[in-house]
Amino acid sequence: MKVIVSHDVDHLSYSEHAADLFIPKFAVRSAIECGLRHISVSEFVRRGMRIWSNRFHNLGELMEFDRAEGITSTFFFAVANGKGLTYRPAEARPWIRRAMEGGFDVGVHGIAFEDEQEVRREHDAFRDLSGLGQFGIRMHYLRRSDTTLGLLAGAGYSFDSTYYGLQNPYRVGRMWEFPLQIMDVDIIRKNASWQNICLDEATEDTKKMIGEACDRGITHLSVNFHDRFFCREFETWMEWYGWLIRYLKDCGHEFTSYQDAMAEIEGGTPCRV
Ligand SMILES: [Zn+2]
Repeated sequence: MKVIVSHDVDHLSYSEHAADLFIPKFAVRSAIECGLRHISVSEFVRRGMRIWSNRFHNLGELMEFDRAEGITSTFFFAVANGKGLTYRPAEARPWIRRAMEGGFDVGVHGIAFEDEQEVRREHDAFRDLSGLGQFGIRMHYLRRSDTTLGLLAGAGYSFDSTYYGLQNPYRVGRMWEFPLQIMDVDIIRKNASWQNICLDEATEDTKKMIGEACDRGITHLSVNFHDRFFCREFETWMEWYGWLIRYLKDCGHEFTSYQDAMAEIEGGTPCRV
């Protein structure tokens, strides 16, 4: 089984949430997690202190980790706002460049999923921002409707990885759909809005999911880990990601990227220009 690692970039700074309720909700969720003893008091305090740094993302640290592990991951950046995602494309630009210069793939973290014009606008905005001709997308919150895949294919995306499911990659017009199988929030916040399991439970659940994917003959396993959790303010999440990469390697699975996987399937060379 080939493993494809990806990262949705939902936040860059805390101040971008000055006009919404994200930070109060984050504080309440963290207090609940602390009360349930899923995070320690020191972790809770670290989260509070971190707000003063105003740096919400952990992009540099995560790129460094993936590079050391030899993983060509894909970072999805937004070029529109919605559903708690509020950073501006100009703020994402330096990180898009840094990811590309570091040899990583980049794509769109999509907001519009039903409006054809808006879907096209996001595609073209990212093309102009990144200078790339071919790139893919994952919708923020995995939002979709019956028409989403057709709209994404029509806008010119080369791949999408929004749909959850134990399915192998399939074509939608000229676009490839890479179903998503493993996502951090669904494992560590199990049917809840806050962390409700410990690391051991998370790793056991993940082992079962990987085993099931192998049994079902999945050729490409798509993993999504949010960069915002790659820090000591989110111990379980960070440890789970490190464990996941080690576990997949120990099981003998190889890593690839969406772009390389498409080229492998089609028998061509990956296009990143
Ligand atoms: Zn998102």
